[in-house]
Amino acid sequence: MCEDGEVENVRVVVRVRPLSEKEIEAGYRQITKVDTVHKTISVENPQAADGEPPKTFTFDVVFDTDSRQMDVYNETARPIVDKVLMGYNGTILAYGQTGTGKTFTMQGDCMAPELKGIIPNSFAHIFGYIAKAAEHQTAHLEVKERPDIGVYIRDLSGYVVNNADDMERIMTLGNKNRVVGATAMNTQSSRSHAIFTITIENGDVGEDGKQHIKMGKLHLVDLASKTGATGVRLKEATKINLSLSTLGNVISALVDGKSTHIPYRNSKLTRLLQDSLGGNSKTVMCANIGPADFNYDETISTLRYANRAK
Ligand code: ADP
Ligand code: MG
Repeated sequence: MCEDGEVENVRVVVRVRPLSEKEIEAGYRQITKVDTVHKTISVENPQAADGEPPKTFTFDVVFDTDSRQMDVYNETARPIVDKVLMGYNGTILAYGQTGTGKTFTMQGDCMAPELKGIIPNSFAHIFGYIAKAAEHQTAHLEVKERPDIGVYIRDLSGYVVNNADDMERIMTLGNKNRVVGATAMNTQSSRSHAIFTITIENGDVGEDGKQHIKMGKLHLVDLASKTGATGVRLKEATKINLSLSTLGNVISALVDGKSTHIPYRNSKLTRLLQDSLGGNSKTVMCANIGPADFNYDETISTLRYANRAK
């Protein structure tokens, strides 16, 4: 938060997932240490020579292995969703190596309500707000209904949703359309960025007695992992890596504030997010990392990327 209580335009947070049962069984060791008060994370090099100190990084917020989904939502997404409801644009991104908790952070786990991630919690927040709004607007569009996805607008790529459950069905539908393939890292790795966009139109009668429409757009992005795939997948991998490096360049140029040129046009991803990155839009990037020693190189690489974006 800024001193006046306003939300900063770009914030970068880090979240460390706990060691998995498999990692514990295999005897891997946790090399991350979080200081939530000073907002730092230290990473110990498992191959360090004697006396080599751990590498320490500072971020806007650092979530340790025991962080709860609701705390992550409240501290990262909630201020942005509030702004979107007021007509600003916002972007929430999850970045990191495969298996570090990007999807857990964005979508969560449907096993229990307290494991819901940022996307379903945003829906609940938005629909809670709409339910409280005194006046409702009806759109003059042809509205259709399908049993699998609920209500949608014909001939539009957007869907009209009436409640949080509808939104979650659409989230599942979007996931089915994601391209999934094998990589060197993990056979379950997502080979595409998953971008979920919510547009909120808010009608209000102003002091002048006239109707004012406020339009806010929220992008929720589960980024594909940086990848070292080879062969037929190489072209795809190169594109993913280029879009991730361009995103890093765009965000660091925005944070720097002195750059006159923001390289939005260098990748499809940043072109798509352009209206919600920079200007008076609000952005938060969550860098996800694993705690284990065998992830050291990737963890440092992710923290460096996130640190540059700060
Ligand atoms: P990614 O999307 O980055 O590849 P996932 O979100 O699929 O990673 O997470 C990998 C595994 O770790 C999943 O089984 C997930 O449930 C678990 N996981 C990730 N983050 C956490 C967390 N903070 N707490 C508990 N389990 C987590
Ligand atoms: Mg994932």
